[in-house]
Order: sequence, then C-alpha cells, then structure tokens
Amino acid sequence: MKVIVINCGSSSLKYQLLDMDGEALLAIGIVERIGIEGSQLKHETTGKGKELIVTPMKDHKEALSVVLNALTNEKYGAIKDLNEIDAAGHRVVHAGEKFSGSVLITDEVMEALEECIDLAPLHNPPNIMGIKAIQELLPNIKNVGVFDTAFHQTMPKESYIYPIPYEYYEKYAVRRYGFHGTSHRYVSARAAEMLGMDYNNMKIVSCHLGNGASLAAVKNGKSVATSMGFTPLEGLVMGTRSGDLDPAILTFLMNKENLSIQEMDDILNKKSGILGISGISSDFRDVENAAEAGHERAKLALTIYQNRVKEYIASYAALMGGVDVIIFTAGLGENSPPDRKAICEGLEFMGVEIDSEANNVRGKERVVSSENSKVKVLLVPTNEELMIARDTEEIVSAL
Ligand code: AMP
Repeated sequence: MKVIVINCGSSSLKYQLLDMDGEALLAIGIVERIGIEGSQLKHETTGKGKELIVTPMKDHKEALSVVLNALTNEKYGAIKDLNEIDAAGHRVVHAGEKFSGSVLITDEVMEALEECIDLAPLHNPPNIMGIKAIQELLPNIKNVGVFDTAFHQTMPKESYIYPIPYEYYEKYAVRRYGFHGTSHRYVSARAAEMLGMDYNNMKIVSCHLGNGASLAAVKNGKSVATSMGFTPLEGLVMGTRSGDLDPAILTFLMNKENLSIQEMDDILNKKSGILGISGISSDFRDVENAAEAGHERAKLALTIYQNRVKEYIASYAALMGGVDVIIFTAGLGENSPPDRKAICEGLEFMGVEIDSEANNVRGKERVVSSENSKVKVLLVPTNEELMIARDTEEIVSAL
C-alpha cells in the first residue's frame, strides 16, 4: 500500500510518500510560503535527487496540486499515476477529548475537528484545509486523521485537571491535553523494541526536545503524564516559549507595561524561552556557540533549560514509582551530546549513568547509558510520518 502523509502548517505543507511494503520512503518534500509571495516546493524522490519548484500557490489546495504534479513528474517523480496512491494520513494537532486514537476521516470526524478549532486556532484550520484538499484532488482515496493529542488521552484525571475552579473544565474544556503524542508513542514503542523489553510492562520518560519540547511519562504503554498542557506553551523552557512560570507574572507585567492580551501572549510564545533569557537566538546551536565563547546569559539559558528537563524527569520517575528507560529525541535531543549529558548529570542517585563515548553520537538509534546504568538512556530519532503512515495503513486495510 502506498500512503501519502500530509502535515499542513499555516503557510507550509510537508509530505512524504511511503510504500508500506517494506516501509520505504519514495518521496519527501515541503511547500513553503503558501499564500505569500515566493511560494516554493522542495521535492525529493528517493534515488533521483532534489528539485526546487518556484510557482505561486495561493492556498493549500493549489500547493497540494503542485505536489501531486511533482510526484507524477516523468523526470523527477516517484510514481507514474496518482491512482497508485492508496490512502492519505493527516497530522492533526488537536482532537480535544474526542479521539484517543487515529480514525478514518468521515463527515462526523470533520465536524468534530471543526469544533476543536477553538482549542487550536493556529493549527487545526490548516490541518483541516489539507484534508479537504486531498478529498477534492484525490476523491477516491481514504483519509485518516492522526492526532498529536490522542496518545495522551490515557492520562488519569489527576494528571489533566488544573487546580482552578472545576467549572472551567466543564464549561470550556480547560484541561491538560498534551502534544507531540505521535512522537512520544513512536519513540517509546521503538525503545522497547530496541531493548527487547515488554512495552506494556515498563516505565519510560520520553524527552522530545525540539523547537517545541515536551516530556511524557509512559507507564505500561500508556501516557500517564506530559509536560505540555492546555496549549503547547506549558512545561519545558523552549526556543521562544516560556514553559512553566508563576501565572501572577502575567497580570503584573500587563499592568506595568500596559500590555494587551495579544501582546502578552506574543511575549510568552515568541519572545521568551532560550531567546528571552540569552537575548541571542531561539536556536540552540547559536546559544551553545555563544555559551562556549563565554556569553553569560547564553550559559544561564542553557542551564535553566537543562535543569527544567532534569526536574521533570525526576518528577515523572516519582510519579511512576521508578523509571526503566529515558529517551531523547527531536532536534536537540537527537543532535546534542552535551545537552543530553548535562540533563542526565545529577540523576545518578536514581540509577542514571551516561557513557560519554556512547553518547557522542547524533541522529542514530543507540543506548547512550553505561553498561552498569540501572536506567537505560536511549537516543531514538523520532519518525512521526512513519507512525502516521502505519496507522493509516492499519485503518484502511481493515475496512
Ligand atoms: P525540531 O523542532 O525537532 O526540528 O528541532 C529543532 C531544534 O533542534 C533547533 O532549533 C535547534 O536548536 C536544535 N538542534 C538541531 N541540531 C542541533 C545541534 N547539532 N546541536 C544543538 N541543537 C540542535
């Protein structure tokens, strides 16, 4: 079965075409600047190299139509005919409390996703546009929705209810949802495979450390706690997002600086985190370089970042009554040996011991803890697209 995986952002569209017989990647690409001057598609077919297509694309449907043309292009395409595509898997950010797993897209599912727009006003509309575009351009194939929030729907109530008046949960569904669920699910199941352990009988802390970052406590194959909350703003310090802070800071600053709600929201989402503390960049590479050159606030930003991850790992170990495996994944988790080392340092008391030599690796599956480490520390590159394609194949083949 050939599956196209679609991940739509507000002005971007990422895709992969996979042949699920052998899980081979046939083509991969990204459209950028949809609806903005300078729209372009970067396409790559396995074995045929890269192609840049610059052409106006006013919306996601036009973008997808350019993608489908690229996929079937005689010179640099991956398939001869669009009929070869059997199904589409869509990444959807927010499914609220409606879905705890991936689902076949039906009219009822579309309605449910529209209802969740309120909870993810920036993310769900482009995700919905992507589904509608495929429905129009490839009307004969089935679509499957795979949700970032779904994996965390197994959290017990005590993990998702906030200590504010209960009526806000009942009235507005204000609760912890959690994100990066597809990534946490993929890497935690993969870690069990790598170690030959029983996924349904182990305690895992999964650290997805990218531009956005979150931790998940996965006990016996189920998410029982996660650091992102009602929105992806809570939890860890991120590139530009604050993560946890005293909520009273908001009203204090709004009052002092005469800030509107939107301005305060922008500060917390776009001007805080590593960028806010260091004043240098939201990219960890820049901040790490500056720290090495002796920049004090860059050093401070990294230490605050690493300490926050460490605190969460320890608190999730406490919550689960122990931890067997700690996983690092995503941009920073996969590519920064010094950050992995700094995060694990100090956790020796709970049986965590990094092997500096094994840890000196980027982007490869590997155990990076020492032989004697009671807790196994793993680097597992995430692959959300493969997970989406697998779910899509499973659901469509069962029809
Ligand atoms: P992601 O959102 O998973 O694509 O992660 C992107 C982030 O990973 C970037 O903002 C970088 O800060 C970080 N990153 C990528 N490569 C490295 C590296 N070699 N060292 C440190 N950080 C990295």
